[in-house]
Amino acid sequence: MLQDFARAIKGRVILPNNQDYDTARKLFYGGFDRKPKAIVRVKDASDVQKTIAFTKENNYELAVRSGGHSVAGYSVIDDSIVIDFTDMRQLEIDTELKTAWAEPGLTSGEVTNELDKHNLVLGFGDTGSVGSGGITLGGGVGYLVRKFGLTIDNLLAAEIVTADGKILRIDKDNHPDLFWAIRGGGGNFGVVTKFKYQLHDLAECYGGMMFLPATAEVIAGFVDIAQKAPDELSTIINIMPTPPMPGIDKDQIGKLSVIALMVYAGDPKEGERVIAPVRALAKPIVDMVKPMRYKEIYFPEDESYHPKAVGLNLHLNTIDFNLAKIIAHLNSIDAPMRALQLRVLGGAMSRVPIDETAYANRKAPIMANIAAFYGTEDERKARQQWAESFAKLLDQGNPAVYVNFLGLNEKDRIRDAYPGKTWERLVEVKKRYDPANFFHNNANISPTPVRQIHPAQRSK
Ligand SMILES: Cc1cc2nc3c(=O)[nH]c(=O)nc-3n(C[C@H](O)[C@H](O)[C@H](O)COP(=O)(O)OP(=O)(O)OC[C@H]3O[C@@H](n4cnc5c(N)ncnc54)[C@H](O)[C@@H]3O)c2cc1C
Repeated sequence: MLQDFARAIKGRVILPNNQDYDTARKLFYGGFDRKPKAIVRVKDASDVQKTIAFTKENNYELAVRSGGHSVAGYSVIDDSIVIDFTDMRQLEIDTELKTAWAEPGLTSGEVTNELDKHNLVLGFGDTGSVGSGGITLGGGVGYLVRKFGLTIDNLLAAEIVTADGKILRIDKDNHPDLFWAIRGGGGNFGVVTKFKYQLHDLAECYGGMMFLPATAEVIAGFVDIAQKAPDELSTIINIMPTPPMPGIDKDQIGKLSVIALMVYAGDPKEGERVIAPVRALAKPIVDMVKPMRYKEIYFPEDESYHPKAVGLNLHLNTIDFNLAKIIAHLNSIDAPMRALQLRVLGGAMSRVPIDETAYANRKAPIMANIAAFYGTEDERKARQQWAESFAKLLDQGNPAVYVNFLGLNEKDRIRDAYPGKTWERLVEVKKRYDPANFFHNNANISPTPVRQIHPAQRSK
């Protein structure tokens, strides 16, 4: 049966007895050992159509994978058929209109590198290996978020295969409800085979990475500067143990640093001026912030790196905390990688009307991620507890969460990614395009409301 199906499509079907099966079923995060029935390396929308039909006929589970960075591991499921976009990586750039059609198998870094050749940019996230498919469908919060908004704020159109097997071109005029829903609603509504993006001019910018001492003054001062800065500046800080790196004193390794990643998407000279107050906060431990091409913000990655991590995503109204307590909490475990990440939001992202897309948590000023790596199952449990007590410490009563950072055991928080009328609207679109909930291996938007518990309120 699978053999007949394999012959009927243009792409390649990888089965458990194939040599590359174990590599193909790997996800970015370790800790998942899922064994799908088949991994279908589709070549075009008609392959996707046929795979959906085959999966339905046989009553199999379906998973969809673009870059494999799902935090919850949704993109490879046991006994499922996986639609895998690894072999769909075409990018067509229109340099005059400054638009591009991109296939979902392209990573954020691959798109960014190609655009760089034309002095063009598009914002994804903080990591080059993240798939353009998954990040776009969830929102896309990165180094251009304050200047050009979320990735979805630059999405002009898409080609999508729906649960009934139709291939649709969708945009603001064609199936506007579906186009609204895929901008933040994830993989709930169909399998996207192409995205059309609006691109932006940017040749040189100013940015890079700076390590600063992890003190309460530096953290509060940095957030204050980032919030008051012009939209050109988008930042991410990680308060975490200092990794070994050239230029880092041996004594500092393993001690907490504030690792600040910054992009000033404008004139480098102006960027230097805007970032000067950061340099004045404390003597940087390492300062690699300089005039650069935007693509340089993505650092080289090791493909064999598959960490096991626990994580929690929160939104903060202010950084007005007892920061000494935050630092003490970070120092209370010995995980080699444990971090509090802060992303100052605002700017272009916050000016898009709430009902324009399904990403409605646009007003929260700061996004926070808590993360820790683990090895053993006992460590996982302990670090999960640590993360939850950290969330309690940080809780300011803002339940907002970003769907792309939701873990597998956080199904009760999906509703918080879609506040207000967004959830009801998504449910309506879901009923129209996927009434049987065929696409459910994702942060699922089901017709039945889910119970919500903020992590800070969870019992241990
Ligand atoms: C190291 C790391 C760093 C990250 N940094 C950021 C960041 O800075 N900003 C940010 O916004 N996010 C970030 N993320 C989260 C990231 O956006 C999500 O994990 C995203 O889903 C990954 O996309 P992917 O294509 O690699 O994932 P996949 O695992 O391939 O896909 C994830 C899910 O998305 C859906 N999906 C993917 N492609 C399609 C498609 N073509 N059609 C329909 N549904 C599809 C499916 O439900 C799938 O299960 C990060 C994740 C990691 C692991």
